[in-house]
Amino acid sequence: MRIVVVGAGIVGASTAFHLTQLGAEVYFVDNNTPGRATFAGAGIVCPWLSQNRDPRYEELSFAAVRYYPELIASLAAAGETGVDYELVGGLVVADSVQELDFVVERLQKYLEHGVKEIGRVQVLQAGGPKELFPYLDPGLAGVYLSGAIRVSGESLRVALLNAAVKAGAKQLSGTAALESERSGNAVVGVRVDGEIISADAVVVAAGAWSAHLCRPLDLRLELEPQRGQILHLTVSQGQTEALPVIVPVLSDYYLLGFRDSRVVMGATRETGSGFDFRVTAGGVAEVLQEGLRIAPGLNTATLTEIRVGFRPLSKDGLPLLGHPSSTAGLVIATGLGRYGLTVGPFAGLLAAKLALGETPGINVAGFEPDRRATG
Ligand SMILES: Cc1cc2nc3c(=O)[nH]c(=O)nc-3n(C[C@H](O)[C@H](O)[C@H](O)COP(=O)(O)OP(=O)(O)OC[C@H]3O[C@@H](n4cnc5c(N)ncnc54)[C@H](O)[C@@H]3O)c2cc1C
Repeated sequence: MRIVVVGAGIVGASTAFHLTQLGAEVYFVDNNTPGRATFAGAGIVCPWLSQNRDPRYEELSFAAVRYYPELIASLAAAGETGVDYELVGGLVVADSVQELDFVVERLQKYLEHGVKEIGRVQVLQAGGPKELFPYLDPGLAGVYLSGAIRVSGESLRVALLNAAVKAGAKQLSGTAALESERSGNAVVGVRVDGEIISADAVVVAAGAWSAHLCRPLDLRLELEPQRGQILHLTVSQGQTEALPVIVPVLSDYYLLGFRDSRVVMGATRETGSGFDFRVTAGGVAEVLQEGLRIAPGLNTATLTEIRVGFRPLSKDGLPLLGHPSSTAGLVIATGLGRYGLTVGPFAGLLAAKLALGETPGINVAGFEPDRRATG
């Protein structure tokens, strides 16, 4: 079967890779547009403390984390060893341990239900978090969990695409439009720069741009871009790559370390931003104010880079993943919002199976891409 994947962010790259593994003839196309979420994404993988408590989302995101090590191993077996993926552990911080009682309760409950990927959970009195993340305010208390992961989404995306190409996938650069039958009821391929590539199925994994792509078919996705501005700081000394991630639970702000003395501080969540690809004074001020409040030790760090990305935000917070009811030959795989680096690699596997007519192996009911959100 020939499948075309539109969009090569984390979701499309994973879809293309898994399609090659499943024996399909694969084309993927990307237009390298500014604001790609995978390039801007921070890289915290810690779904057990997510703000999305929908049981269907929990099942999906927990399965996604379980799948990560297998995927990294498959990529290594394909010669792709450059993924910046580390089990660094995570910290939730607060002014007092009492404020974190609910975090401990929640993690204990999951552990009792066998969610062993959470790892070891430890309550840290004031000063404990700073011993693990030296830039933090010494007065902060915390909860540590050893299972949290940090991943560079861009390094994973590149590895997935390299592995897909090695396995025969064909890469196209340009803006794709969907080609449908005259009736508009079935997608038969894509058009890129005037050239038509016919396909047995097309996977739309174009992130926040997916709604635009589907509109000519009268297919309306309840999806919008949510701008995120995220800061990259460089510290003058100290090992940053083994720092635990500071997981956002009591506020929306977080920190994580990468190689090259880099600490990433994020991020704004600007619902209603549209595709306005700008760094704003207010956005940077907001992130710096909140980030430096918990980590005053970063006051003298160099602000080296600011990234802007558009999260593909669905109306009800659930993914858009599956076949739309009105259009044959089409799979939609997007809507992962603020958790796409967590769920995206696994969502790509599911999208690949759906495109080939296989059962995905996990319940995707509720993720119908053309559903209408209630409430
Ligand atoms: C600031 C920020 C921080 C984040 N932090 C985290 C985090 O810590 N943990 C986490 O799990 N998630 C995080 N996320 C969310 C995560 O980054 C996204 O959910 C995820 O990257 C979405 O991936 P995607 O492949 O759906 O979309 P994208 O990465 O945006 O990819 C879509 C691709 O489609 C291409 N495209 C669009 N239209 C067309 C077209 N017509 N033809 C061809 N190509 C097209 C674009 O160029 C783009 O490359 C963060 C996001 C942001 C913005």
